Formats: sequence, structure tokens, C-alpha cells
Amino acid sequence: MSSNAAGMIGDLVATAIPEDERVWVPQAPNVWFRPLFFNTVQGGWCNLLRVRRSGVLSRHRHPGPVHGYVIKGSWRYLEHDWVAKAGMYVFEPPGETHTLVVDAGVEEMITFFNISGAMLYVNEADTIVAYEDVHTKIDVCRKHYEAIGLGASYVDQFIR
Ligand code: FE
Repeated sequence: MSSNAAGMIGDLVATAIPEDERVWVPQAPNVWFRPLFFNTVQGGWCNLLRVRRSGVLSRHRHPGPVHGYVIKGSWRYLEHDWVAKAGMYVFEPPGETHTLVVDAGVEEMITFFNISGAMLYVNEADTIVAYEDVHTKIDVCRKHYEAIGLGASYVDQFIR
């Protein structure tokens, strides 16, 4: 079977790491996400996160559960003593604040995340300073796909 540029093979199966680089949506310098599933009914999404830099990425918490599967490279949370490496599954309990770090020497990390609810970005005082939910993620995708010529509606294939 053949797949389209977004790696979608029919409606239900996709090549997660796409051949077309444009499918990756920039979210910060050297940080991208690859949308797989936008759940606008229950509020949540699945994506790959790709990071090609080291250091602190964000301090945040989630009101709902998050499941992660590390595909490539490694990363960790400052609040824990473990390192999430390729092949590992990570559970993020609702309400836990953590600080995502990619260590020097990791050229690239790619992790699948299933995120329920939202990303709540917090400062050192634990005050929420920014957030992302399924709707803001869709908006970012629309702007990116429009800007690179795929068209804003390109994101629609990921929305359920
Ligand atoms: Fe998290």
C-alpha cells in the first residue's frame, strides 16, 4: 500500500516518522512535533516530539495523564533520577510538575506522547504562564501548513 505525504496509509494507519520533512511542525528552535491524532471531543492529542538541542525544554504539568514511548535518543525530568531512553515507556501522572531536559551529547530525541487535556507551562513559582491544548495545537499546525504551502486544511486528516 502507498502512503500520502503525511505518512497516512488510508484512514487508520500512518508511518509515524514521515518522509516529508514539512509534516514536522516547529514549536521552538530545534524542537518540532509531528501530529498523529487530534481528539477534539475528549480533549487530547498524540504526537511525536523531536528535539535537536540540549538543555531545559520546559517546566510544565498536565491536568490529565500522559503516556510516552521513547523512539530515539534520551531525555529526563529534573524531578526524577531516571533517564528515559529509546524503547522505554513513561507514565506522567496528572498534576505532577516536571522539567524536561535533553542532556548534552544527545543529537536527537524522538518520543511519542499521548497527552490528555493540556500542557500547562509553569514558572518557578508554579504559576501557569502558558498552555497548549488540542485546539492550540491544531491552530499551530494550520498556520505552519498554510505557510509552507500544504494548505491550512492539511491538518484536518489528523482531527477525529
Ligand atoms: Fe509532561
